[in-house]
Amino acid sequence: MRAGGDGYAVAARAGAIRFRYRLTFDDTVPVSTGAALSPSHLYAVTGALFAAPEAANPAGEAPLRLRLHVGVPPGWEVVTGWGVGDRTFTPPNRRALLGSTLAAAPDFRLYRDTAAGTRFVLAIRGERRFADTALARVIAASLREARALLGPVPVPRVTYVADVGATGSTSASLQGRATVGLLWGSGDSLGLPRIHDVFHETLHLWFGGVLQTARWWTEGVTDYYAARLQSEWSGRAGDLATLIFRSLDDYLRIPRRTRMTMDQEARANVLGDNTTLLVYRKGMLAALLLDAAIRRSTGGSASLDDVAREALALARSRADGRVAESELRALAIAAGGPAVGALWTRVVAGDTLLSREEVAAALRAVTRRRAVADPAGGASRGRRRRTRQTMRRTS
Ligand SMILES: [Zn+2]
Repeated sequence: MRAGGDGYAVAARAGAIRFRYRLTFDDTVPVSTGAALSPSHLYAVTGALFAAPEAANPAGEAPLRLRLHVGVPPGWEVVTGWGVGDRTFTPPNRRALLGSTLAAAPDFRLYRDTAAGTRFVLAIRGERRFADTALARVIAASLREARALLGPVPVPRVTYVADVGATGSTSASLQGRATVGLLWGSGDSLGLPRIHDVFHETLHLWFGGVLQTARWWTEGVTDYYAARLQSEWSGRAGDLATLIFRSLDDYLRIPRRTRMTMDQEARANVLGDNTTLLVYRKGMLAALLLDAAIRRSTGGSASLDDVAREALALARSRADGRVAESELRALAIAAGGPAVGALWTRVVAGDTLLSREEVAAALRAVTRRRAVADPAGGASRGRRRRTRQTMRRTS
């Protein structure tokens, strides 16, 4: 075996190669939402802990068979995207290995169910302020709502691992191609922000799983649909407005917003949680604005939903699932015409500051409501007066 570049080259002609990794609880794992190791549990997006052998093969499809055995202390349950309990896993391909979550602990509580034609497993540990079954219900709803919007769940089984975050006050979610990790503080209630997180991670089975594309779409469009689907499921139209205006407020607080496009930010690999990144916060607003523009220009006969479904169909027709941003733009213009192209140039590709009025108008267009509730305090007093007048006129 020779070390070279950022990997190793193996000169073996045939036969099995056995790699052995050993982690001890004395090893320090960098503070990350992607991996943690402690005497009581382990979780990881496996790419963070394992190196899958990448057989060099010009044809692209090396007939690599991989078997992964996870050795953990006695009594520990191992949970991966491929199964629960059995410690030896044979992922169907390398892609599956790199996109999967691995977790192990002695105290998982396991729930198995079927939703939207797909089996799912919830492995949960730690104490929370809500019942395990309440989270299982939200997961089932997220799968059903996403299927209604985007078509069949892309994988036959989804594994959700719910652990209590290390600090007890932060929340984080992880996503693989068939696995979702939900790391929340023990004091969290299963309210709007956390339910929105579950919908967001479930939607990554499509955006990020099936479809590989620009980061603002993978995170921002996902966040928008998570808000819309959550709102439709809960029957509370105000939930969408709450999440949109929260995103807008966070976006307006990002100091670099006027100097950077979403693409520049993605390339610069700016660090931060999703409240400080344009690709999440402005990306969500961009999705709303595009959705509203397509609905307006077509009299409501088309929407961003059509663009999303066409992008997914395009991704499925390709081995790597990759769809270029220019192709997404072409699909959006095909759906909504030149006005959508101009909006794309300004909002998606540009760095012009978005306004509260523009966002509120888009919300009205998408929800077909004359007025939306802007939770911002003093700034919206004038708007509230106008809202009341509007409501009087329509009642
Ligand atoms: Zn995400």
